[in-house]
Amino acid sequence: MKVTVLGAGTMGNGIAQVTAMAGHDVTMRDIEQEFVDDGLATIESNLQGGVDRDKVTQAEMDATLEHIDTAVELEPALEGADLVVEAVPEQMELKRDTFADVEAVVDDDTVIATNTSSLSITEIASALEHDGRAVGLHFFNPVHLMQLVEVVVPEQSSETTVEFAEEFVEGIDRTPVTVRDSAGFASSRLGVTLGVEAIRMLEEGVASPRDIDAAMELGYNHPMGPIELGDVVGLDVRLDILEYLREELGERFRPPQLLKQKVRAGKLGRKTGEGFYVWEDGEIVGTSGDWGDDE
Ligand code: NAD
Repeated sequence: MKVTVLGAGTMGNGIAQVTAMAGHDVTMRDIEQEFVDDGLATIESNLQGGVDRDKVTQAEMDATLEHIDTAVELEPALEGADLVVEAVPEQMELKRDTFADVEAVVDDDTVIATNTSSLSITEIASALEHDGRAVGLHFFNPVHLMQLVEVVVPEQSSETTVEFAEEFVEGIDRTPVTVRDSAGFASSRLGVTLGVEAIRMLEEGVASPRDIDAAMELGYNHPMGPIELGDVVGLDVRLDILEYLREELGERFRPPQLLKQKVRAGKLGRKTGEGFYVWEDGEIVGTSGDWGDDE
């Protein structure tokens, strides 16, 4: 199968990697060569990490890289695609434009999927003329380590498209969970609720980031606490999702002031080196701000 992934950022490069690892031919497209190169470098480094830990063989790494092609121009990137997965930034107009631009080039039976975390897929799909081919494929971060993919079914999706999506997910060694298109799906709605309450607890000085995270990790067996997870996901991504959920579901999703301040200051989490934590080479090395118990 030929799969085109649009966006080579956090999610796009992960989706390209797991798809290529399953033996599909992948073209990963971004709007600048630099972003494509960064995405490919991340894939190489993730695979190398797998080889170093004996999770991936050198032959598997080489074969995966051989299956990945990159592009900056849209049209050639879409050539022969059976499936297109968009992982461009979380903005409704951009997603709708991307869907329409893709449809103008691909065959009538190409399935067009979005990796949106929380936007209405029904609304994104309505940018298409043949909208039965639209579906959500909601991957989780980091894609190469996460087992779940939500198959999100918009109003328009045909049964064939949903079956295709479920089979694709199983074929790349992931587990599909099929959910109806509703704000925040099954996962983000619950996950974001925990994250937003954790930030409100910071605002109220209830506990430090490390203690809040430890409470969930040790008390509830979460592999990662909600503050750290926000930093890993990206605080700008979290803010966009919250603003949308507030519109759709009400004031309980109102973004905390502290989150807005972090985003305004460019402290977006792991990807910028600072969010609620301070990061170096992908690892936490301290806590941002004044939490005396942490340093
Ligand atoms: P990101 O900012 O890391 O990457 C987005 C990439 O898309 C950038 O490299 C950007 O240059 C590129 N881009 C912009 N316009 C484009 C276009 N027209 N064509 C191709 N590429 C374009 O963002 P991300 O974290 O990878 O998020 C992408 C999508 O995945 C969003 O919808 C987000 O909600 C969703 N998502 C994110 C996470 C997460 O943990 N980060 C998890 C699940 C889903």
